[in-house]
Amino acid sequence: MSQSCAGSSSAETTCHETRVQSGMCPACGAKGAPVSIQTVQALAAISLRCLPSTSYQFCHTPHCPVVYYCTDNAQTLTVDQVRERVYQKETGQPDVFICYCFRYRASDLQRATVAENEAIIADIRAGIAAGQCACELRNPQGSCCLGNVYRALRDQG
Ligand SMILES: [Zn+2]
Repeated sequence: MSQSCAGSSSAETTCHETRVQSGMCPACGAKGAPVSIQTVQALAAISLRCLPSTSYQFCHTPHCPVVYYCTDNAQTLTVDQVRERVYQKETGQPDVFICYCFRYRASDLQRATVAENEAIIADIRAGIAAGQCACELRNPQGSCCLGNVYRALRDQG
């Protein structure tokens, strides 16, 4: 019945302090981006009892399995412990969401004409302006998708 949370049972467990303090992902070593605890709580597919900390970072590295890692200890949440498929972890996958608030998938941009892509951007911007976005609760990166949208459009030329 009792499922223990890996790594959280003992506060005395040694952690790699230099690595953690410098904000690097314990799996790939890249520097992550701070993400709010609300984002981690909204996206976690594990018991929230297993989130002892409030300080997490988001790892952007495409082929690193870690989505969130804790800056207080060595805890990580991997792609299979997150409720959504993560855009950054599935680059090139057409059916992954790029805009989680207004439900655009990568393929919506890939298949669209220039005018259609401009309409998608206009729709996202209108949603943001109307306060209808909830990036911190829906987008695993915890922030607005528009940068990813622009980057995807630029990359596909
Ligand atoms: Zn990583």
